[in-house]
Amino acid sequence: MPAVIPPVVGHDDGYFWDGVAAGRLLLQRCADCGRLRQPPSPMCPNCRSLRTDTQESSGKGTVYSWILSHHPTEADAQPRIVVLVDLEEGVRLVSNLIEVDESEVDNGMAVEVCFRQFDGGVTLPQFRPVGR
Ligand code: ZN
Repeated sequence: MPAVIPPVVGHDDGYFWDGVAAGRLLLQRCADCGRLRQPPSPMCPNCRSLRTDTQESSGKGTVYSWILSHHPTEADAQPRIVVLVDLEEGVRLVSNLIEVDESEVDNGMAVEVCFRQFDGGVTLPQFRPVGR
């Protein structure tokens, strides 16, 4: 796998990267009203609580939208399918779609998370079509 830029782990998303390291896709949940939110944020937009916990995602969802991204460097010459996934828990996540040719990608396609380790030891959640 090619190298990727390592994530910058902040106060609000440390749980996410701890989950990724353990092969789990964790979502931020308000500890007061229970609403899930993605991307992570310090305050619940529903009840303004600052208390958070997490919920593990099934990792299953559908493609909401996607693009084919071309990077302008030789070190990262392969285009990537960047995808917006509607997780079945009701939040949307940006990721990459792998193990599929761009000609097969369509909005509404059923996808599931998988975890890939890249050169340099960075692990990222990726998505692939269900059943691959
Ligand atoms: Zn809340």
